[in-house]
Amino acid sequence: MERKIIKDKTAGEKLKIICGECRIAQKHVVLTSLEDCIDEDNFGSVKSYQIVQCQNCDSLCFRSEYADSESHAYDPETGEDFEWTQVDIFPHRTAGRFKIKDSFLLPIGVRQAYDELIDAMNAGQRILAGLGIRVVVESICVDLNAEGDSLYKKINDLSLKKAITQVDASILHKLRSLGNASAHEAKPSSAEQLDLAMNVVEHLLLGTYIHPRLAQSVFKDSK
Ligand SMILES: [Zn+2]
Repeated sequence: MERKIIKDKTAGEKLKIICGECRIAQKHVVLTSLEDCIDEDNFGSVKSYQIVQCQNCDSLCFRSEYADSESHAYDPETGEDFEWTQVDIFPHRTAGRFKIKDSFLLPIGVRQAYDELIDAMNAGQRILAGLGIRVVVESICVDLNAEGDSLYKKINDLSLKKAITQVDASILHKLRSLGNASAHEAKPSSAEQLDLAMNVVEHLLLGTYIHPRLAQSVFKDSK
């Protein structure tokens, strides 16, 4: 086996990818790259590791692209061979789910759970995302000192203490059952269920943590 590392083979290439800051597809340029090229008797592969920059907002992200001599397949519909490459972008953004604004204001435990949930969502890991939603709900219960020996009782306790509304509580119970299916049956939630669940979780995070903290800093002089 022969391995060669080549520098900047793809530097200067232009790509259209979703920008993590602009939140839409934007033109990106490869600033610098390293290509890991492997040559064997009957096999060759190239993996490119690239730092790319959005041409609209200048933000940077990491992209990798892999192809080998076997990465082509037969398309029975056209009767032709086609080539494919495996592309990864970090942080993940394939599903186009972005963190809520000002998520740094979340308490640390809630924020860690929420960050991992976004990663699972965007990597298309639907079982883990279903679990992650439950973990975020549990982390909110811990932060708000909910009492009870089960998540069911904790959610009811939050509603009794008026930390969340009754409507929020009934929605949290639905999310709890989504997480149960993920945990006990390894059953992936549908993309629609997860999308709605994420909207609900984010609405709750905004109302419970972020808006009150922003209000404090924006209206600090008024009573
Ligand atoms: Zn951008």
